[in-house]
Amino acid sequence: MSGLYLHIPFCRKRCTYCDFHFSTTFENYRTSLVQAIASELALRATELDLPIQTIYFGGGTPSILNFSELDLIFNTIHAHYPTAPDCEITFEVNPEDINEANLLYWKGLGINRLSIGLQTFSDEDLLWMNRAHHVNDGLAGIQLAQQCGFDNISVDLIYGLPGQSLAAWDASLQAVFKLGVQHLSAYCLTIEPKTALNHLVRQKKLQPADEVLQSEQFLWLVQKASMHGFEQYEISNFGLAGFHSRHNSSYWKFQPYLGIGPSAHSFDGKVRRWNVRNNTQYTNQVGKNDKWFETEHLSANERRNEQILLGLRTIWGLDVSTLTTDWTPKESAQITEFARLSWLTISNEKIVLTEQGKLHADGIAAALFRVD
Ligand code: SF4
Repeated sequence: MSGLYLHIPFCRKRCTYCDFHFSTTFENYRTSLVQAIASELALRATELDLPIQTIYFGGGTPSILNFSELDLIFNTIHAHYPTAPDCEITFEVNPEDINEANLLYWKGLGINRLSIGLQTFSDEDLLWMNRAHHVNDGLAGIQLAQQCGFDNISVDLIYGLPGQSLAAWDASLQAVFKLGVQHLSAYCLTIEPKTALNHLVRQKKLQPADEVLQSEQFLWLVQKASMHGFEQYEISNFGLAGFHSRHNSSYWKFQPYLGIGPSAHSFDGKVRRWNVRNNTQYTNQVGKNDKWFETEHLSANERRNEQILLGLRTIWGLDVSTLTTDWTPKESAQITEFARLSWLTISNEKIVLTEQGKLHADGIAAALFRVD
């Protein structure tokens, strides 16, 4: 399995909760940055097993790219990376960029999966989130995408919002299920330190959601998604049969991938590499072919810890037989205790979290980590 990730670090507005790498003042250098992305693609073409199975455009906001920028990136991919005939090509899209001309162009390029950032079905919430769209833009956009032939659409939602009741969360979920989309990613809002949201909370302009209510919203989500035929194959990801994200699944299965663009991460099974998180520095250093990334060799324990962390988040669970060493008596006792609490089940060499266990996934993983 080989996956290619491209990070497009442009956004129209700064969403209050977001700590991804992006810029809202990119017009002066967008051409040179896209050229740098094309150069990095060409420079690193030998690093992945070919053909490519999945391509994922994330960001930032890939749907900001204009046709000539997209042509340059796609032509470079096709020149250097043979793609499998059934290659999954996902494009993250914000509702304000959806129109017929864009949709048809994206389709013509071979993009066969859209991931649309709706986030919530409340215009009031979209306002404090500083999103660039209204609820109706998202609804109309999805309808238009379906009319233009996109039959593999994922939507992103966020729950655990300040002031969001269980009923309001349910209304968002019901709205999604009516859309006829194939996939749902739903994340609990986290208040990251260097964000405007953190500032608003510290100034007491917004009250963070109650953690008990957030847990209830999560369990509600799992239950309602299942009722509508969506399988929870990762803690935050739900798909109809045959519509799991193949690209993201490869991360969770600890498979190699190549990350292109500022701040993008790569992993080859042993070495993790991350590109500089600064657009100007990235463009200049790629232009000079002067190291624009840092690397870290993962120790056996670090690889094991990551396998545990990622595996426990998925429906496939933690494959005990792939871990390099047996459990210590202390770890075994810990696993037995988690099983007694009904937080996990063990069968056929697999450890899988229960619904209750998923609420404690990070803590369970941390309890099984080994330190060098
Ligand atoms: S559009 Fe996406 S990447 Fe950009 S600021 Fe908003 S949440 Fe972050």
